[in-house]
Amino acid sequence: MTARIIDGKAIAAEIRAEVAAGVKALIGRGGPVPGLATVLVGDNPASATYLRAKRTAAAEVGIVTFDHQLAGGSTQREVEAFVAELGEDRRVHGILVQLPMPTGLDEQSVLARIRIEKDVDGFHPMNLGRLAKKGSDPLFVPCTPAGCLILLKRSGARLEGSRAVVLGRSNIVGMPVALLLIKHDATVTVCHSLTPSVREICHEADVLIAAVGQPELVRGDWIKPGATVIDVGINQVEDPSTKRGFRIVGDVAFQEAIDVAGAITPVPGGVGPMTVAGLLQNTLRAAEIAHDRSTA
Ligand code: NAP
Repeated sequence: MTARIIDGKAIAAEIRAEVAAGVKALIGRGGPVPGLATVLVGDNPASATYLRAKRTAAAEVGIVTFDHQLAGGSTQREVEAFVAELGEDRRVHGILVQLPMPTGLDEQSVLARIRIEKDVDGFHPMNLGRLAKKGSDPLFVPCTPAGCLILLKRSGARLEGSRAVVLGRSNIVGMPVALLLIKHDATVTVCHSLTPSVREICHEADVLIAAVGQPELVRGDWIKPGATVIDVGINQVEDPSTKRGFRIVGDVAFQEAIDVAGAITPVPGGVGPMTVAGLLQNTLRAAEIAHDRSTA
């Protein structure tokens, strides 16, 4: 069997086009230009690069960004006060605090200061709690997990009644993706670094989500024939044959998996582009919520 490739780049482009149309429609009915405030504490170069990509993507769909950089030595109180101030700014519909923050700052406490109707990353405890609670929905779903779900749905994977396995239990990917899959009626097993027999557990999965940050951990013989595999991992591995001296691989050994899986996301070009698309979707939604409330 040769797996179908789930083209995250193409699906993310569709979503960006949908968001651009949504922004026009919102403005057309008297709504605001959606505004996204980005906050970078310190000068982590990787974070700065991610933020640049997010701002460019936002500008392309008509979202205006307000970019803020706070000194690396900012205190907990200063960062929280700044985030709270953005909550009062009517031009700002979404607030993105880029993680990780410098050591010494309590990220969870900062995230909890974001107003939930502006929490476009979906990391506020209230939004995560609503995701976990039966019969309630969050205002915003975290962008990478939401991207995984869109990829599954648009690739035709059946979730209801399926057996899903999530590798990883982080706050930003593993745990919310598991909660989302449960909301979509999959039966979910979450594995972490202390889980025994991970290979055997993976082999039972109709839907396998790998979010561990371990290059090519998941081998071809871990995968159930015909399964849908979503590879969230972005790992840099040395490769002297390339100009840069490294290449990017996922958490799944792609060349092995492709012979076994029914469908699979590549790395790069799978989940990665979906994360930014999800942020744009959430920012548009935040502006729509603000407009609906102001006209109610
Ligand atoms: P993380 O916070 O480091 O969490 C990794 C998780 O994997 C932890 O829960 C850990 O278990 C578990 N784990 C580690 N080794 C394992 C093993 N051998 N077997 C089973 N579970 C294992 O990482 P993250 O932030 O979730 O990110 C995961 C990967 O996704 C990284 O490669 C990251 O770069 C990538 N990522 C991609 C995007 C995107 O846009 N595509 C977005 C975010 C992250 P413990 O809890 O026991 O430590």
